[in-house]
Amino acid sequence: MLLTITTTHHPATDLGYLLVKHPDRLQSFEVSGGTAHVFYPEATPQRCTAALLLDVDPGAARPAKQPDTFTLRQHVNDRPYAASSLLSAALGRVLRTALRGESRDRPELAAAPIPLELRIPALRCKGDAETFFGPLGWTVEAAPIPLDPTRPEWGASRYVDLTLRGTLRLADALNHVYVLLPVLDDAKHYWVSTDEVEKLLRAGTGWLAEHPAKAVIARRYLAHRTALTNEALSRLSDVDTDADSVDQPAAARPESLAALRRATVVRQLAEAGAQRVLDLGCGPGALLGELIRDRRFTEIVGADVSTVSLDMAARRLRLDRLPDRQKERIRLLQTALTYRDDRLCGYDAAVLMEVVEHVDPPRLPALAANVFGHAAPKTVLVTTPNAEYNVRYPGLGHGGMRHHDHRFEWDRAQFGAWCDEVAARYGYTVTRHGIGEEDPEVGASTQMAVFKQ
Ligand code: SAH
Repeated sequence: MLLTITTTHHPATDLGYLLVKHPDRLQSFEVSGGTAHVFYPEATPQRCTAALLLDVDPGAARPAKQPDTFTLRQHVNDRPYAASSLLSAALGRVLRTALRGESRDRPELAAAPIPLELRIPALRCKGDAETFFGPLGWTVEAAPIPLDPTRPEWGASRYVDLTLRGTLRLADALNHVYVLLPVLDDAKHYWVSTDEVEKLLRAGTGWLAEHPAKAVIARRYLAHRTALTNEALSRLSDVDTDADSVDQPAAARPESLAALRRATVVRQLAEAGAQRVLDLGCGPGALLGELIRDRRFTEIVGADVSTVSLDMAARRLRLDRLPDRQKERIRLLQTALTYRDDRLCGYDAAVLMEVVEHVDPPRLPALAANVFGHAAPKTVLVTTPNAEYNVRYPGLGHGGMRHHDHRFEWDRAQFGAWCDEVAARYGYTVTRHGIGEEDPEVGASTQMAVFKQ
């Protein structure tokens, strides 16, 4: 089983930093079912290719279903050759840091979309690969592999040679493959348990909730287990309108918390008289959709580190089909808020809705310096979960957080302390409010701070 990852980003050998695997070395790892090797068939500043080769024992990797009478199937099967959930599991283990989008040596590059070509030369593909990879911004080439090249009349086999081309963040690319390999193959090599829901939601952060084929993806990824699929889909649909997965308490309110949060933010922006606004960490663009419908906002910028989220925002807003007068009001840009960006300067207001908790605490001072110190809009709105309220969510385990990508969740005192510190340092005044029903003991589910210069 083989997956190759090629980039022409200059210098292309930086791929080695992102994968945390040196281009000059062959490295091997024992993984479930066999041995994974990582090596570089080519490594020049112009073009660099990393290969993940998984060598499996056909006996150890039995196909999941074997209802027939072919008794040698246990030993004679396609498992060693055709990419499957085994390759995905190996990817998850061997390239874990890259999947998380982390890079000690090249953090900016890890956050940036780069030209990529991924190839899986043998993949059993149930359905059209385009349906799954197309909406994520890939150009998909799935060439059918003949059953026997010397016997063209026998036609195509069940396998394709898959090439994906696009300009994406490496972490997004790897997460797409990690989730979609077992989906395309539609046969998992291991027993699927509740952990798999967590894995799916984690790997699908930022793209799965908006994927038009999310129902099929969840069903197949979770090996057609109805209860797990329903759980994943219901948590995803919360994400759909909402950044958090378990924001709906048991007694769901008619208006979702996410909708209430957006309405509150829009009202605050209007009260501040803001016309030119930034939505920082805009995600797939739910708030942008409301801002563009409101004439009071004359210039709207959605910014996010994730190009996949930005692509989804562009689709949701139908940017390509907006009339020119509307199109002039809105712009999307890719940026990492932990790095200074002049394009964010000079706005009336900035919104950080459910964003700060996605940033590693040691990077928060950099975010504050860039947003409050450098971009310095007159008004800044920050919303974040109130950790105290988590006890009101029966689905959350003790000490659990609302979303897998959350690096922390603050109680009201912690958020208050951060707000006061930032306000004092960068010359703002700050007031704090709850969003959602105010619980007498634990407060409201969402906390919001309004900073004014
Ligand atoms: N504001 C949206 C999305 C919240 S999810 C909403 O409320 O629906 C958090 C978003 O922050 C994600 O889209 C993520 O990509 C983005 N994000 C996280 N860290 C970031 C950073 N350092 N720079 C820019 N965006 C970031």
